[in-house]
Formats: sequence, structure tokens, C-alpha cells
Amino acid sequence: NRPLDPGQRTFKVVILGDTGVGKTCLAARLNNKDAPIPHNPTIGLDFTACAVTVDGETVRANIWDTAGQERFNSLLPAYCRAAQGAIFVFDLTDLRTFLSLDRCLHNASVTLPDDACKLVVGNKRDLADTGWRAVTSNMGEEFAANIEANYVEISVLQDDDVRIVLKDLIREIVSKS
Ligand code: GDP
Ligand code: MG
Repeated sequence: NRPLDPGQRTFKVVILGDTGVGKTCLAARLNNKDAPIPHNPTIGLDFTACAVTVDGETVRANIWDTAGQERFNSLLPAYCRAAQGAIFVFDLTDLRTFLSLDRCLHNASVTLPDDACKLVVGNKRDLADTGWRAVTSNMGEEFAANIEANYVEISVLQDDDVRIVLKDLIREIVSKS
């Protein structure tokens, strides 16, 4: 990882979704780490800094992961406050995790700014492709379109480069700011 320049523009991006959908693995891979990022469970909130270059500018994305505390709704306001980007993750093989994005969005919207850039990620495409798919691409696309977000299906475990996901979101954030 390149060192972060203190004069660099910084953006806050939160990762939201049910337990077990792959948020912590995604955050780790966005930061080119193989293993989940160590976190402080007593605080319950944590971010990892990540350098992203778009259109010749390197910016800093602080990627917030809920550190396993996603079921505590009381943390959500602090978590989403002043975020420029939000990544909503569900598991393509688990319909429940897709359906719960509605409530997740509702809870997040208390502090998530209206103009935050959003991305919906259907994760575990590797499992979906072996016959375990429970959520169709159309369902994912429709949900995303309703909240003016892009939709992607990925395998955090198997894809060569999941950073593409972040790059597109950051490009959108930079172009808005
Ligand atoms: P979190 O609770 O949302 O933070 O989920 P984790 O990142 O801890 O992942 C939960 C489990 O799903 C772990 O056992 C991961 O190895 C697994 N997992 C995450 N992403 C994928 C994926 O793309 N494919 C498969 N097969 N498993 C995944
Ligand atoms: Mg986690």
C-alpha cells in the first residue's frame, strides 16, 4: 500500500448489510489484505484507509465496517453520519439478506446524507453459480434502480479484483464533490 498523503481528499464509505454476507471480507480485499482486518470489538465501529486513484487524482477512502455489530441499530446513526458513499451488500444465496436491505436502508437513512452515492452488491456469486442462487439479477437490479444505485454481482472470495467496485463508486463521489 502506498502511504497516504495528508493533503489528500478524504471520503467516507460505509458497508452495510446482514451478518455473514461478506462485508468484512470485502473491506479487507478493498484494502488489498487477504485476511479480515483486525478490529476493536469494544468500539464496534472501525474503518480502514484505502488509496484510490480516479482520473489522475489519488483520494483516500475511509471504509467503515460494522465489526460484527450490525445488529445493534443504535450504532447506525454514528456509522452512517456524513458518509459520501454506501455499499449495500447481500448474499445471492440467501433471500433473507436481500429482503433485509429494505430495513437497512430505512435505518441508515436517518443519518446517511440524501446525496450519498450508493452501490448494491450481490456477493457470493461463486456459490450462486453452482446452483445455490436465491436472488435473481433482475431482483438486485430493480432494488438498486429504485434507490438510484448501481448493481454488481461479485465473489469477494474468488474474483481477482474486487477493487473495481470501489473505484466506480469513488469516481461517482469525486464527480459529485
Ligand atoms: P460479514 O458478517 O458481513 O462481515 O461477513 P464476513 O466477511 O465475515 O463473511 C462471512 C462468511 O462468508 C465467511 O465465512 C466468508 O469466508 C464467507 N464469504 C464472504 N464472501 C464470500 C464469497 O464471495 N463466496 C463465498 N463462497 N463465501 C464468502
Ligand atoms: Mg463483519
